[in-house]
Amino acid sequence: MNIPLLDLQPQLDRLRDEIVDAVTGVIDSKQYILGPRVTEFEEAVAEYCGTTRAVGVSSGTDALLITLMGLGVGPGDLVATTPYTFFATMGSIMRTGARPLFVDIDPHTYNISADHLDELLAGDDEARRRLKAIMPVHLFGQCAAMERITSTADRYGVPIIEDAAQAIGAEFPWSQKNGGILWKKAGSMGLAGCFSFFPSKNLGGIGDGGMVVTSDEAFADRLVSLRNHGSSPKYYHPLIGGNFRLAPIQAAVLHLKLPHLENWHRKRRQNSKNYRRLFRDKGLTPHAVSLPKAEYRGMDSRERHNYHIYNQFIIRVGRRDRLRAFLQEKSIGCEIYYPLCLHQQECLREFGYDRLRLPEAEKAAGETLALPIYPGLTLEMQEYVVETIAEFYQ
Ligand SMILES: *Cc1c(COP(=O)(O)O)cnc(C)c1O
Repeated sequence: MNIPLLDLQPQLDRLRDEIVDAVTGVIDSKQYILGPRVTEFEEAVAEYCGTTRAVGVSSGTDALLITLMGLGVGPGDLVATTPYTFFATMGSIMRTGARPLFVDIDPHTYNISADHLDELLAGDDEARRRLKAIMPVHLFGQCAAMERITSTADRYGVPIIEDAAQAIGAEFPWSQKNGGILWKKAGSMGLAGCFSFFPSKNLGGIGDGGMVVTSDEAFADRLVSLRNHGSSPKYYHPLIGGNFRLAPIQAAVLHLKLPHLENWHRKRRQNSKNYRRLFRDKGLTPHAVSLPKAEYRGMDSRERHNYHIYNQFIIRVGRRDRLRAFLQEKSIGCEIYYPLCLHQQECLREFGYDRLRLPEAEKAAGETLALPIYPGLTLEMQEYVVETIAEFYQ
């Protein structure tokens, strides 16, 4: 059986005609830059996320960059973030001239550790003085510990920028004063939330695209100006921005996909449930294989886990690289997210991060593996994946 890590074919089979119509509609409209298709999609995403505004941009990377630019982050500043994420999180910080303040991760969720963040800031006057923002990543589709991170951000008076590139639609259970819980959507908890529509994300375009959501009207207006060279009005430039515009072709396709997103999340979550049962039945958990720590909405109110949208299903295993080769030999797609932490990347060598030790992030980089989880993956395929892993650990 050949099982790719991600297969867009089932989605394409279902939506192909609508996608072609949407693209044709843009072509015939002759409106090729911004315009009503972008605005309508922005309104739909803001509504979905529970924010008042959304600003369509050219990619998830540019969503992060433009948000940092909008905050005026630059040389001399620090942005607290995780070393265990896609490169763009850190790349966007470096491109403004600021530097990342790397916070180690929680070994269960792979998101930044709120404890380590507090420790780092409490013990470092200079870091506190230079800190301009906190940029948690909701990695693999699961929200970071946003309540704790928000109280830290409030204590030090800095905004939160959520890198929600992998987490559109994920939710976090926020405590209410009356003891209840309010579920908040990824991207709606900080000053701004950044999404990517890279084709492998839960909501993917037919090319690059991204979005920033916020409920700060003035900040949204600033982003609207920045994405178009900082102009307002046309040919007058109070700010220096760039060309960070979302293409209407992407907006049209993404907009028609948006109503399907919850259903796709549900299928991914069902696949996660299936994996959990299959791994348990084979006796692989909890010893040979560690599964992502996340429970289903309402199931475990004590631990109050997230509404995880499983952009990736990550297992943690021994002899990871050999398992990966074995799965590949059996035509099972899998991938390492991410094999080298950001503080250890070659491009940071001249910036003095080489002596930094972030043990949990470094350990995760050596032990994790992503398995296929996409909607359209069948139970039979999942059984084959788990049987093959069982064969390896026999
Ligand atoms: C995908 C991703 C990005 C970048 O998004 P692009 O649309 O590819 O530019 C940023 N951060 C994280 C965590 C991502 O997964």
